[in-house]
Amino acid sequence: RVTLQNNEFWLEDLGSRNGTFIDGKRLERKHLQDGVLIQVGLHASFRFTVVSARQEKLLRELYESSTRDALTGLYNRRHFDERIKAEFAYAKRHQLDIGFVMIDVDFFKRVNDTHGHAAGDIVLKAVAANLAKQLRTEDVIARVGGEEFAILLRGIGTDGARKLAERLRANIESLPIVAEGIPISVTISAGCASLSETEDQSPPGLQSLADERLYDAKHLGRNRVVAK
Ligand code: GH3
Ligand code: MG
Ligand code: MG
Repeated sequence: RVTLQNNEFWLEDLGSRNGTFIDGKRLERKHLQDGVLIQVGLHASFRFTVVSARQEKLLRELYESSTRDALTGLYNRRHFDERIKAEFAYAKRHQLDIGFVMIDVDFFKRVNDTHGHAAGDIVLKAVAANLAKQLRTEDVIARVGGEEFAILLRGIGTDGARKLAERLRANIESLPIVAEGIPISVTISAGCASLSETEDQSPPGLQSLADERLYDAKHLGRNRVVAK
């Protein structure tokens, strides 16, 4: 517990089994100096810093921008990879499934070639916003490539992922997008899989299964969802 008493911060161990340490010394109660490293148990450490509200806001914004893709505002690939690891650990602990949907915009090169890169950017933003709007807060969506998006669905199997992907696909197909005054419509293809289907229960195993199915969706003619 961290408390503030007479303008000083104090750290207290509330009788933990694995201990709280500063400078390698186990403590019961200790005055906290700015910048000190607190170790909790064997594996977790925290840096204690006193910052102003303004500084904190700045740090938060810095963190946010490091996890987000600048064009669409969705999570970036790096953050997505981190989240997958955490979601896998959670799913295994609670014996839950994880649904995974890999999405790629169809013939997107044509959009750029026909309408220009700036219009292409507007289309990508519109697609990203529409996909995100249709998800629940516990779902994680990221832009993992130029016109590629990945979605993690907590506690959802392949069939649930397929249903969601089908809804996303149908919505994008009928989404009216206007870029620089010109109406542009696009379609998406999707590959779906779930943790329970994979052989090795690893994030790369799940992603490559969804990738293979996305590839199949492309070859079957695009604007479709493949699962299994
Ligand atoms: P397919 O249906 O097989 O996916 O065809 P495609 O044209 O979408 O596939 P391809 O991979 O050949 O082209 C992807 C295009 O996406 C090429 C690239 O210029 C465009 N792209 C990638 N990132 C961005 C971006 O940030 N903005 C814009 N405007 N275009 C992008
Ligand atoms: Mg692509
Ligand atoms: Mg594409």
